[in-house]
Amino acid sequence: MLPPTFGEKVILVTGGSRGIGRAMVETFAAGGARVIFTHVQNSDAATELEGTLRSKGYTVSAAKADVRLAADVDALVEGIEREHGRLDVLVNNAGVAKDALIMGMDEKAWSDVIATNLTGAFHCIKAATQMMMRRRQGVIINVSSLVATRPGRGHCNYAASKGGLEAMTKALAVELAPRNIRVNCVAPGMIVTDMSKEVRDLAGDQILARIPLKRYGNPEEVAAAVRFLASDDAAYITGTTLHVDGGLIV
Ligand code: NAD
Repeated sequence: MLPPTFGEKVILVTGGSRGIGRAMVETFAAGGARVIFTHVQNSDAATELEGTLRSKGYTVSAAKADVRLAADVDALVEGIEREHGRLDVLVNNAGVAKDALIMGMDEKAWSDVIATNLTGAFHCIKAATQMMMRRRQGVIINVSSLVATRPGRGHCNYAASKGGLEAMTKALAVELAPRNIRVNCVAPGMIVTDMSKEVRDLAGDQILARIPLKRYGNPEEVAAAVRFLASDDAAYITGTTLHVDGGLIV
């Protein structure tokens, strides 16, 4: 079967210059979508990805925006509306992890993770839904984590942010269904990216022993799940979390 295509659709991926977000940008661009992806610090990586994909004839733009700041997000979405007049799919992928045991977790590690992973998604959804509601269609996909439901030691901030994201997803799926806007989560397990490197280096053998498929996932496998939820093949799916974790049991 042919992969789902996104011709003419306008898709925003937050945190798209590397890791899982980058794989999403690549798959949506290859599917014919007009893709906008954000970056915060690494302008070189964003420019390189934009250039590589444009050289293949894809319609891709990089935009600098910090999802923690509502003003950045509002300006980004206003720019999309001016240029494209629509937004079909929003993927809240931007995320950070700052693990620590509760006694060593300072206020900054707590609030940075909540501000990026949970409030950042709130900012993007609030800005994007205005445009989606007017057109009475849209898809929102939030990137959660296995940690939302099966946290380990040192995860209290990250688990709270991703658990909050899954709860927010269910609430908004109900609220936005009458406007034909679907809201779902994808929850990756252990995926090979910069974010998971430290944990894989420290506890790789223990983690692998608990993954029934006996390997880590790769960003493209998460992007494939996101691509499915974004497509019309998932037209009757809302308010759910799709786990992409090799069956990982903690
Ligand atoms: P990564 O660190 O490679 O990429 C994270 C991206 O988020 C980067 O592009 C970064 O620039 C962006 N970002 C961070 N703070 C931001 C901010 N304030 N504003 C805008 N962008 C910001 O990590 P990744 O592994 O690709 O993770 C992508 C998503 O997947 C995250 O939400 C993460 O929590 C989730 N996740 C990852 C794994 C894993 O094993 N790698 C597992 C479960 C969930």
